[in-house]
Amino acid sequence: MALDPATIVLMSTVMAVAMSVVLYSAHSSFPREIKGLKQWAISLVLLAFGSGIYASTSGLLGNILSPLCANAVILWGLGFGLIGTQMFYSRESSWWLFHFVWVLGMVASGYYVIVNPDYSGRLAIFSVLAFVLYSYQVVLIWGYGERHFSTVFFGLLMLFQSVVVLIRGVLAMTHSSDDMNQFVSGPHQNLYLLTSHFMTLLLTVGFMTVATRRLQTILERRSTLDPLTQVLNRRGFNEVYAKEHALMRREQTVMTMLSIDLDYFKAINDCYGHSTGDRVLTDVASVIAKALRASDHVARFGGEEFVVLLPATGLERGHHVAERIQTVLRAPRSETESEQSAAAAALPPYTVSIGIACQVSPDEDLDNILLRADRALYCAKERGRDRIEIAAEAVLPLHASA
Ligand code: GH3
Ligand code: MG
Ligand code: MG
Repeated sequence: MALDPATIVLMSTVMAVAMSVVLYSAHSSFPREIKGLKQWAISLVLLAFGSGIYASTSGLLGNILSPLCANAVILWGLGFGLIGTQMFYSRESSWWLFHFVWVLGMVASGYYVIVNPDYSGRLAIFSVLAFVLYSYQVVLIWGYGERHFSTVFFGLLMLFQSVVVLIRGVLAMTHSSDDMNQFVSGPHQNLYLLTSHFMTLLLTVGFMTVATRRLQTILERRSTLDPLTQVLNRRGFNEVYAKEHALMRREQTVMTMLSIDLDYFKAINDCYGHSTGDRVLTDVASVIAKALRASDHVARFGGEEFVVLLPATGLERGHHVAERIQTVLRAPRSETESEQSAAAAALPPYTVSIGIACQVSPDEDLDNILLRADRALYCAKERGRDRIEIAAEAVLPLHASA
């Protein structure tokens, strides 16, 4: 195999710098919730820089300073990798471990370079420290990674890398420096260089895989949520409805739908401004959500109209939920126990009208049940607003309620 170590180092260093550009560009374009990309980019630059210093042993820094600096820079690089992974999984950053590792690494390499020159001693301590940083990440990926192929891929790569540095550490501990010198220049060294540099790149690919998977999850969730109120939008609601409808058919139960519309909302916008209007919309969404069970769903159907889907629910509970929403809205806002009660207290008082439709048969489709709920809502508006009306079992023609 004509693999010259210098070529391997050069190629992988260039690749590492290129990958750090990829990571940095992902950091600047991915949503802010995806953390750790910048730290991984910094990590790669440091690792590339560190191996560059190693390669220039005969350079300015000389035989003593060069390995010392290289060790420190590489340990910073590995440390930034750990911090990045911790940030990605929303764990606290272990800066104490970061500093402990590189300071210990410097002290130990200083000892083995200056006081008691011993290559295998230096290698052993360096490998153990690298093992600590890598294996910590294996634990994080295992404990906090989403159950998905990307996590398995990233986790296995990290595990492999931990094992490689551990084996190298154990070899260094159990062999004298003379033995180890064979590794420094022999085929083992080439193999090690190849795996360690190549693995650094592969690990980055692994990290990008979990990061893009997270991006996909976030974008999918966003595309089904209303940006203002964070409840489902129409698209998200249609998906939820399809699942619930299939389930209701199988279990031979029915669902109930509430159609909720704010009363005189245009007047709120006109009197208090559009941004207060927006806050009212957010408030009503949170009041509705609090009145529901975890298995119920609420969606904003554009404007100031909300729809609630209550699975496996008949009219009685549907009516009860509607009353609860109205009771909370009618109560003086400062008495509500919501976390935003202070903010809610500053909102103008407002009411909602609610139309309720209970599915007439498992075959009734979304359009029909929504139409009936809307007709009931229309009735509630006609009869003075701030009230609840129950839909007729068949779709009523408009104005039939008067
Ligand atoms: P009604 O009691 O009959 O429902 O009267 P209304 O004023 O609530 O109903 P109307 O349909 O006349 O007005 C709805 C208003 O909702 C008009 C529009 O400016 C406002 N609106 C729609 N979407 C938004 C939004 O995202 N934010 C804000 N602040 N206002 C919105
Ligand atoms: Mg309205
Ligand atoms: Mg409306």
